[in-house]
Amino acid sequence: MAKINLKLLKNKAKNEIEKAQNLKELNDIFKKYLGKKGEITQILASIKNLTKEKRARVGKEANLLKNFLEKKFSEKTIEIKRKIEKEIEEREWIDITVPGKRPSLGHLHPLSQVKRKTEEIFQSIGFSVIEGPEVETEWYNFDALNIPKDHPARDAWDTFWLRQETGNRKQEARKLLLRTHTSPVQVRYMEKNNPPLRIIVPGRIFRHEATDASHEVNFYQVEGLMVDKKVSVANFKAVIEEFFQRFFERPIAIRIRPSYFPFTEPSFEVDISCSNCRGRGCSVCSKTGWLEMMGAGMVHPNVFKAAGLNPKNWQGFAFGIGLDRLAMMKYKINDIRLFYSGDLRFLNQF
Ligand SMILES: [Zn+2]
Repeated sequence: MAKINLKLLKNKAKNEIEKAQNLKELNDIFKKYLGKKGEITQILASIKNLTKEKRARVGKEANLLKNFLEKKFSEKTIEIKRKIEKEIEEREWIDITVPGKRPSLGHLHPLSQVKRKTEEIFQSIGFSVIEGPEVETEWYNFDALNIPKDHPARDAWDTFWLRQETGNRKQEARKLLLRTHTSPVQVRYMEKNNPPLRIIVPGRIFRHEATDASHEVNFYQVEGLMVDKKVSVANFKAVIEEFFQRFFERPIAIRIRPSYFPFTEPSFEVDISCSNCRGRGCSVCSKTGWLEMMGAGMVHPNVFKAAGLNPKNWQGFAFGIGLDRLAMMKYKINDIRLFYSGDLRFLNQF
């Protein structure tokens, strides 16, 4: 009885294993024969009830069958797993020769490009790039720069004053404002660093005024400062000529005219030869052949004093260039407001 049962059982189980389509089916078949309540497990459990003679023979055959089926199960498991892997491979196959989708990349704003170019040129001739706060005190923005108390620039029409309602009269007296130029950083830097020094300070500045093609309420400036034992206007001219030639990538003639700024003495305006007409005179330069580019001068003794330096020991020049103006000249843009419009038709041209 037992012998026939085992042989039938073997063929039946073998058949079912071979027909199994997936791991779930295979697992069910395994349980049916070799699980805790599986047919073969039960046969092995009932052997102890047989006679001693039968017990040895049936036990041996049942164990052989058990080993045989276990081997079949593991072979079939491997076969099914390979089949699954192959299916995944076929489904996820990627054709690497198909052209990709080009991601649309942005680029730097023209003002950022001009700022970086300016920093690069000055760094290459020994200047460090320094930053300062956009919210300034009246002291750093005006007093320390030798700007008189009654100077019209302090008027509410030119400067954005920030109201501080702290309830403390002393604190309210220390007025804050949005800086009207990057020059306050000169004093801030000289307070903490001893000469000789060479810095440029690029940054955003604010003016309380009506906007038009050449005026905005906020724009960008680069401050420059060089201080040493002996620094002259000739040094300034050499540095700034080098800068303009490398910035505009062409030979540039420089013209220095006398001017007035409270924080420099002597003060001057710097013009460069018109790139449009090469000095012959055109509508861009109002027929003069020259373009106004920046204000500059030799650092005023009072500014050195405000920063805690003895003006008898040090000399220096300072200058301020409008980054927006540089960009407008370089790219021939006629309206400063375009930089802040966020208009992609404009920005995409750079
Ligand atoms: Zn011109």
